[in-house]
Amino acid sequence: MNQAVARLEKYDGIDPVVWSEIYETEPQGLKDQQWFTNQVVRFAVDPELWAPHGFLSTLQAVEGQMDRVRGVKNGPRTIDLDLILFGDEVLEGSDYLTVPHPRAKDRAFVLHPLAEIEPELVFPDGTTIADALKKIDYRIEGKKIYQD
Ligand code: AMP
Repeated sequence: MNQAVARLEKYDGIDPVVWSEIYETEPQGLKDQQWFTNQVVRFAVDPELWAPHGFLSTLQAVEGQMDRVRGVKNGPRTIDLDLILFGDEVLEGSDYLTVPHPRAKDRAFVLHPLAEIEPELVFPDGTTIADALKKIDYRIEGKKIYQD
């Protein structure tokens, strides 16, 4: 994950500003595999250079640089970079990019680290991060996030 952030930082107009802790997270769906590690990072992006589609294609380019291999769905992978939010933008109706990320509000491994770095965050639909966390069933032990 540090390597992914370092690679993104090399692009003009992309600057990491806040990092969450790195969490160990229980696999969802496919249980018989190692735990994942997850982190949420806030980047400042130059709006003259970056819009959401270009930013996602850069995330995918970095996955490619890191020899991302797509195996079975929800299975192990070297790296997975998702775009959770892009300011207040809402983009729907395309398979290529949905913002906010369509499953972000269901996933403790997204919401908990996001709340750590942006405790006052409000999603574009008005949901607060605290409300989103109250709606899901999960448990934290230290840096471990349990969610079935
Ligand atoms: P995954 O590798 O499982 O994260 O899925 C990546 C696929 O989801 C790619 O085909 C992307 O184009 C698509 N996608 C749609 N919205 C997003 C988003 N907000 N962040 C990352 N990938 C997205």
